[in-house]
Amino acid sequence: MIDIKKVSVRYRGTTEDALSDINLSFKKGDFICILGKSGAGKSTFIRTINGLQTPTIGEIHLDGLQISNKNEKQLRIVRREMGMVFQHFNLIPRLTVIQNVLTGKFGYRNNFKSLIGWFTPGELEHAERVISDMGLSKLRDRRVEHLSGGQKQRVGIARALIQQPKILLGDEPVASLDPGTSNEIFALLKELHNRLELLTIINVHDIDLAKRYATRILSLKDGEIIFDGSPDEFTEDD
Ligand code: ADP
Ligand code: ADP
Repeated sequence: MIDIKKVSVRYRGTTEDALSDINLSFKKGDFICILGKSGAGKSTFIRTINGLQTPTIGEIHLDGLQISNKNEKQLRIVRREMGMVFQHFNLIPRLTVIQNVLTGKFGYRNNFKSLIGWFTPGELEHAERVISDMGLSKLRDRRVEHLSGGQKQRVGIARALIQQPKILLGDEPVASLDPGTSNEIFALLKELHNRLELLTIINVHDIDLAKRYATRILSLKDGEIIFDGSPDEFTEDD
């Protein structure tokens, strides 16, 4: 589904590659956790897959189509096919749950004061279904600034899913959450992966979570893949 071909990324003004000659293929059934110390290149890797970062060298293909040189058509495909969740949720604090979820499909609209008139009944109904799916129905009209971390990340996931992507990417989505909530969010991501058949690729620094949920673990060090295999094969030294 995703093919990464000879990809290197070097940031302007630096002398080392943040990612170095990465060759990987991901398929639909994969639930991938990416491990590695701070600075290993995990965030660069996720950002390169979703088009926020352009490879310095190499190509990324989605279902055979190159998506890595950032023309408008490619960016539209990437935005539609890939949902993304973030460590700090990246929600709009003063907007409500449903308003934040709608931004995932329609972007930020100046007039969010009244949903009616700006969104069709079908669009609102669809947003409500996704919200209900995340267990957030009762919080629909609550401003997200008043929610707990776990609730905020559920809103983040709902926002990522409203476009019905095929791929879900996470850049340390549980790094700001306590262990119990982190586990809950991973269980939810795994359930969504199974039910919606989402290719899921997540950066995480908690080895136990990766071993519990991943179907495949990648470990990065200094921009290189030093482990690629099943959770059973992974040891702390990898
Ligand atoms: P991780 O997510 O594993 O902590 P990153 O992908 O953030 O790793 O960083 C990989 C390397 O790239 C690090 O050496 C980091 O300092 C460098 N880096 C990340 N972002 C930038 C940037 N915008 N400009 C220059 N160097 C960067
Ligand atoms: P319904 O799902 O209730 O039939 P509509 O077909 O009227 O809703 O769709 C309203 C909006 O919500 C459209 O912009 C549509 O793209 C989106 N939407 C609703 N259901 C889906 C779906 N299953 N997949 C993708 N988008 C959907």
